[in-house]
This record gives sequence, structure tokens and C-alpha cells, in this order.
Amino acid sequence: MENMEKKIDEAGTLESLEKIRVEIFGKKGMLAAEFAKMKDIPGPEKKAFAEGLNRLKAQLLERFERRHAQLEAEEMQSRMRAEAVDVSLYAPNGVKGALHPVKDTMDRIVDYFTALNFSVESGPMVEDDFHNFEALNLPKNHPARDMQDTFYFSDGTLLRTHTSPVQIRTMMKRKPPIRIIAPGSVFRRDYDLTHTPMFHQVEGLVVDEKAKVSFANLKWILTDFLHEMFGEVDIRFRPSFFPFTEPSAEVDISCIFCGGSGCRVCSRTGWLEVLGCGVVDPNVFEAVGYEDVSGYAFGLGVERFAMLIHHIADLRSLFEGDIRLLEQFR
Ligand SMILES: [Zn+2]
Repeated sequence: MENMEKKIDEAGTLESLEKIRVEIFGKKGMLAAEFAKMKDIPGPEKKAFAEGLNRLKAQLLERFERRHAQLEAEEMQSRMRAEAVDVSLYAPNGVKGALHPVKDTMDRIVDYFTALNFSVESGPMVEDDFHNFEALNLPKNHPARDMQDTFYFSDGTLLRTHTSPVQIRTMMKRKPPIRIIAPGSVFRRDYDLTHTPMFHQVEGLVVDEKAKVSFANLKWILTDFLHEMFGEVDIRFRPSFFPFTEPSAEVDISCIFCGGSGCRVCSRTGWLEVLGCGVVDPNVFEAVGYEDVSGYAFGLGVERFAMLIHHIADLRSLFEGDIRLLEQFR
């Protein structure tokens, strides 16, 4: 009996304690053997024998539980010591990640406009014809639909070809004044040096009373924005056509590679086209039920900005995930 208590106390690990448990309390253990002797004990002494045995069992059990708890605590302690991390250790060669240049450029663009109180809006990538085309003054059979080769699903929905549907959705659920940008992925059936099937846009929309919004406002804000992004470049607005704005303009900056003298990148023109903009066409306001308001909108390709800012020649390299390209942006 004392022998058993000693054994329990001296068990050094939970594993060896478990073996002792089987030895004492198991079906073929020491206690079972003692209880088996009951049948040979004469009647009058049986009761006292059983009581003694039960007392012994309770004592051993209590001892066992205590040792088990001790060992468990000890093992937990030593495991925690072994797994401890010294956060003060000096790590001279820690490898830092970096933002992808497209994400980084998108953040810079969004930061500029949110600082001017534009709110950031988003919408679904799977769109319907109304939000992606119809409400933007692109009725069915309109030739300008060919400008944007579209991925269609069998149920007639499509992958949005621009983030403009976000402008429509915002106007349909909110009253003016509106001052938003819509950054996000867009999709077109196109693939070459300067086109990929998926790319990113940021579009902006401002709508307010007629007296408060003009082409002059638009020109000021885009000029300031482009100086912020590209430094001291010359900027020109060229008349253009978009179905959802009238008048419309394309905006060029003086070539950041040759300073305007003409090179391969700018096709010897000295200018680089960077965004499109215009005053919102009244047909768009009619489609969303707005009256007596004026607005301007603009849109740009984020990859184009990233390529110009970081001097990247092939658009596709932005999507190939080559770690050698990405490592340069740490
Ligand atoms: Zn140039």
C-alpha cells in the first residue's frame, strides 16, 4: 500500500503515471486482485474488509488525482517555455513585403480624392445591361458599344466593362449633391501589349446644382491631380467623344520620358494620354431621374498610371506575378 503511494508520487511524467494507474486501478490491477479476495473472507469479517479496501481505493485515487494535476501543470509550463518567442530578438535579415504597384497606385489616387471629400463607392462586377450600357446613354445597337468588347454570361448579365455602373447605382439610391470616386476591376475582351482582359479603373463623379458645377471645376481638379501624380508636367485637354458626357475631353500630359521633345513611348508626339472626362450628358440624368442638376465625370486606368510612374514597358508584366518585378517595389 505505501509502496503504491510512493509509486504515484514518484511518477515523473503523465505517461508513466498512466502506467501506474492501470497497475493499480485497471481491470487486472492491484485493487481488482484485492477485491477478488473477498469471496474467501468469512462472513462476519467481510464488511470490515470491504470498508478497508474502499478507504484504500479512495486514498489512492485522491493521491493519483493530485499527482496528475501537478504533472499536467509542469508539462504545460515546460511546453510554454519551449515555445516562447523572444520579440526583442534582433532580426537583421527580415524580408519585408511590398504593395503591388497597381494597388499602390490605386491607393495614391484614392488618397488624393478622399482628401478632397470624395467618398469611395463600390458595386457588383457582374452587371446588367441597364447599369453598364443603357443608363449611360449607350442604347442597344449604339455603335459605341463596339468600343468595349464585353464578356457576356448566358443569362444576359455581363462582366462590367467600366466602373461607370457604380455612378448609376449611386445616383439611383441617393439625391444630389454627389461627390464620389469608384475604384475597381473591369473586364474587356482584349489582350496585347497595352490591354489585358482585366484591369482597374478609378472613375469620379460630381453632381450638384447647376451653378455649382462647371467644366472649369473639372479642369482645375484634374490639373491639380495630375501634378500631384506626375510632378511638374504640361497638361492639355483635347476635345473627344464619350456617350455619357457632353462636352467630352481626353487629357494628355507632356511625355515624362522625353520631356516633350518626342520619343518612342509617346510616338514622337511629346504627349501621353492619361484620362478621359466631361460634363455629364443630360440623358444620363434622365435615366436616373435627376432634374435641374449639372455634373462632371472622369475616368482613368490605374495600370496606365502605374506603368508611367514606374517606367514599366509591358502591361502584362503587372499580372504575371513574377517575384523579380515585385521585389523592386519594396
Ligand atoms: Zn516621349
